[in-house]
Amino acid sequence: MGKIIRAELYICNMAKVTISHIKADIGSLPGHTTVYEPVVAEVRRYVKEHSGSILSDFYISHIGDDIQITMIHDRGIDSEEVHRIAWDAFKAGTAVAKSVGLYGAGQDLLKDAFSGNIKGMGPGVAEMEITPRKSEPFLVYMMDKTEPGAFNYPIYKMFADPFNTPGLVIDPNMHEGFTFEIWDIIAGKKIYLSTPENIYDLLAMIGSKSKYVIKRVYTKSSHEKLPDENVAVITTDKLSFIAGEYVGKDDPAAVVRIQSGLPASGEAMEAFSHPFLVSGWMRGSFNGPLMPVGMKDSKMTRFDGPPRVVGLGFVLKDGKLTGPVDMFDDPAFDGARRKAGEITEYIRRMGPFEPHRLPDEEMEYTTLPKVLDKFKDQFEMIESSIKKKKNLVSTKDTD
Ligand SMILES: [Mg+2]
Repeated sequence: MGKIIRAELYICNMAKVTISHIKADIGSLPGHTTVYEPVVAEVRRYVKEHSGSILSDFYISHIGDDIQITMIHDRGIDSEEVHRIAWDAFKAGTAVAKSVGLYGAGQDLLKDAFSGNIKGMGPGVAEMEITPRKSEPFLVYMMDKTEPGAFNYPIYKMFADPFNTPGLVIDPNMHEGFTFEIWDIIAGKKIYLSTPENIYDLLAMIGSKSKYVIKRVYTKSSHEKLPDENVAVITTDKLSFIAGEYVGKDDPAAVVRIQSGLPASGEAMEAFSHPFLVSGWMRGSFNGPLMPVGMKDSKMTRFDGPPRVVGLGFVLKDGKLTGPVDMFDDPAFDGARRKAGEITEYIRRMGPFEPHRLPDEEMEYTTLPKVLDKFKDQFEMIESSIKKKKNLVSTKDTD
């Protein structure tokens, strides 16, 4: 079968479609535990009433204290109209949150007026414009009490680790590997690295998950079914840098396309079978295990956590969503949840000590510097202390 004929089997409609996932914490109950259903309902009502001819479909969800809006449209990424719907929906929800005194009402809406693009205004954004296949299955992963770099490990596992994703070895369409777009979120720079050829360089960077963050994954041009397509995208906005002072870790979300030359649904899920450590948790200041949970358990309790991930499975056809399936709501992930509980027991015993507490450089944007500030004039130079001791010793020797 020729390449062109084969491609027709999978790409039924060359018109591009955009998946825009935008999330924000606009108030929670009672602390940072969970959303308040009337606020979620108001966000849903607003999006439904204002989607008009802009959105072909949408879905409202939540994890912990974050409300999540998944939107389908043909306006491309960075669409002012699409971003405005999300911004105004969060504004409407904030009014409800404030009316009942929810904690942190409107906390992620850092600007007063919408300025054309929601990026940099507080909410997290993950968008990709795609060429929809005959069947376009994708997963939306939502995490709470952690940071965008928490996706480095599972996205690497899905798209670059054959021990997680055997399709990389046995599926000819995955065998060539993928291209990763990495953001240095401290320097504000990005780089593209391909796997498997740059796998060690990629790991050298993304192992430092507070600095290097996977933003997107693309197929290579040699991919027979989906050449040069964006197949995964992660929210990367870091609130602590946007706001200039600490207002909470930017809890991330990701959209991952699956099947037909991409990781199978089960390969994308397998990446969360091991509760790896992430940073965030209590006060955005602690390392802890990421627990995969169903929607019924998407609230943050013990020590405001432990950090959790929810997965929702959709298919997209002609601009319409079918689903979602609550992917982690399954006994197959009981083992990962139990292990996350055991790690929680273990690491919590360390209290305020590293590595449970984050390293010093990551505490810079918390309230800790305010505590230490009052001692800054009481410290003495150690170097001069050493010199004093040396002088004492040399005096003794000459005696
Ligand atoms: Mg949150």
